[in-house]
Amino acid sequence: MGITLSGISKKFDAFTALGNIDLEVRPGEFLALLGPSGSGKTTLLRIIAGLEFADSGTVAFDGQDVSHLPVADRQVGFVFQQYALFKHMTVADNVAFGLNVKKRRDRPSRQEIQARVAELLDLVQLGALGGRYPAQLSGGQRQRVALARALAVGPRILLLDEPFGALDAKVRKDLRRWLRELHDRMGLTSIFVTHDQEEALELADRVVVMDHGRIEQIAEPHDVYAQPASAFVYDFVGESN
Ligand code: ADP
Repeated sequence: MGITLSGISKKFDAFTALGNIDLEVRPGEFLALLGPSGSGKTTLLRIIAGLEFADSGTVAFDGQDVSHLPVADRQVGFVFQQYALFKHMTVADNVAFGLNVKKRRDRPSRQEIQARVAELLDLVQLGALGGRYPAQLSGGQRQRVALARALAVGPRILLLDEPFGALDAKVRKDLRRWLRELHDRMGLTSIFVTHDQEEALELADRVVVMDHGRIEQIAEPHDVYAQPASAFVYDFVGESN
């Protein structure tokens, strides 16, 4: 599903968090939003999800204006840095939560939910762990539960906000490769927020470099690396040479 952002602006009091953002995300694309802390990445993601509304501009999915739709009507999956799992619920119940929040009229039966949860846990390779509680899982496993919950609504768009930020380097590397495979297999359109240049350059089809609420560069990873338009990326390329 394609995503079109046209003239998106957002202020918090007098502070401009996003200034007139235009962006076309292609169907099936894996896009990284890269930039320093405070550059507006999370705000942009929240506006695409419907968790926040822009002051001006429009968000369209496959050409349909969704700017005024609330999050529940946009059918997007959302994964946060800190998992945001319910501690008192089992893994299976956490995943089922994604199904239960569906609108009443198309809410599935209990049996359907159980079958779907089993399917989702298999998909994220946690089939045997449905009865555990989040505290009994590793960080990488918790993030896969969060992903299964996000996928429960059958989204065609997946939005990920620094999803591996809390994990150590090895787990992070394995998980991002696996996520990329999942994205390809499910035909998703994904936007991935990160301030980790290596992650963005390795994972994404294209990288959007943001700074001060504006887009500094949109390019394929090797072009961002070869010709960094932003001091933020330039520092990184300089460092690794
Ligand atoms: P990033 O994800 O790139 O770190 P954010 O989108 O979180 O950046 O934030 C962009 C700027 O907007 C930051 O300066 C932040 O402090 C500010 N901001 C974000 N959300 C709010 C809010 N709800 N109220 C006030 N300021 C906010």
